[in-house]
Amino acid sequence: MCPDSFSLPVPEHIRSLKPYVPGKPIEALEREYGIRDSIKLASNENPLGPSPLGVAALQAALNGLHRYPDDGGHHLTAALADRWSVDPAAIVLGNGSDEILTLLARAFLRPGDTAVIPRPSFLMYELVVRWAGAECVFVPLKEMTIDPAALLTAIDDRCRLVFLCNPNNPTGTVITREAFETFLQKIPPGVVVVLDEAYGEFVCDPDSPNGVDYIHGDRPVVVLRTFSKAFGLAGLRIGYGLMPPEVAAVLHQVRPPFNVGIPAQVAATAALGDTAFLEKTRQLTRTGLDDLARAMDRLGLRWFPTEANFFLIDVGMSADAVYDWLLAKGVIVRAMTAYGYPNYIRVSIGLPEENMRLIRALEQILPKG
Ligand SMILES: *Cc1c(COP(=O)(O)O)cnc(C)c1O
Repeated sequence: MCPDSFSLPVPEHIRSLKPYVPGKPIEALEREYGIRDSIKLASNENPLGPSPLGVAALQAALNGLHRYPDDGGHHLTAALADRWSVDPAAIVLGNGSDEILTLLARAFLRPGDTAVIPRPSFLMYELVVRWAGAECVFVPLKEMTIDPAALLTAIDDRCRLVFLCNPNNPTGTVITREAFETFLQKIPPGVVVVLDEAYGEFVCDPDSPNGVDYIHGDRPVVVLRTFSKAFGLAGLRIGYGLMPPEVAAVLHQVRPPFNVGIPAQVAATAALGDTAFLEKTRQLTRTGLDDLARAMDRLGLRWFPTEANFFLIDVGMSADAVYDWLLAKGVIVRAMTAYGYPNYIRVSIGLPEENMRLIRALEQILPKG
């Protein structure tokens, strides 16, 4: 906090903001607790590490770092256009998909506007809306799932953006294609639909909509994808949006130049072609989800079915307390208190031995019975 004596001219909508609280880094835990061999199952990262092809491409690019990156991200955009069978003009690259969220808010929101946000969902939606001085209208989930019909009822004539996260973070649930299509038909003109598919690569449910199918419809749909999760490149900060070229043109008007660096561009391009790594990641996730679900059943803990690489566990007591106990055992998870679930933790799927560490730690700290 700054001393009051500065009389900083902080607007009210900024003054009241609380910074985003990320998952605790392993290094921070080990520094603070003086322990070693900790594991992190808190931020839905890829436990296999980064895509090997991505790393090799990045290393080969290091001697070119004295140059500014290609502002248009030509090679990555072309590779993505090919991957999704869309025009390159339909793609916007971001410093993480988080940056695309900020561009959307910057481009489409002004003070007095509203954005409709499911709750609980990804906490960044609220932040970007409030950074823009606009207001959030929150809509509760129905049976742990985003309810597109309920989102519609919250859209008024001040609404400019509506967010859907599919699969939803933190519940892992998906909406149906039918519900999404009905929702789209009823979206009033002047409202942009943001469909966040950060976990799209993990989805198995054939009834879940595939966002790219909708970017050429008669409603503006922006699909967000990231290299941070399935491709293992969270540390590089690279994500992208697929959208009608008219929407992309507006985002380019508010995009900082050179927002995606050379390492991120080359590593993401190579990672996109690393199908063996992606398949291995999907396999590991599926097996890990099954193993953890079985272990939770054995421990008598309630858990929720998920289409992502994480899941919610009802620990039946203070999630903050369980979080602290797990930390002391070198296991970082996420307490869901800030998401409105004071008794739930969210756990990312790790390597088999990491999942076992979590189970053993839970066995030790949870009351028997
Ligand atoms: C992790 C995550 C993102 C984004 O990540 P970037 O690292 O900024 O690409 C976006 N949306 C959801 C729901 C996420 O969980």
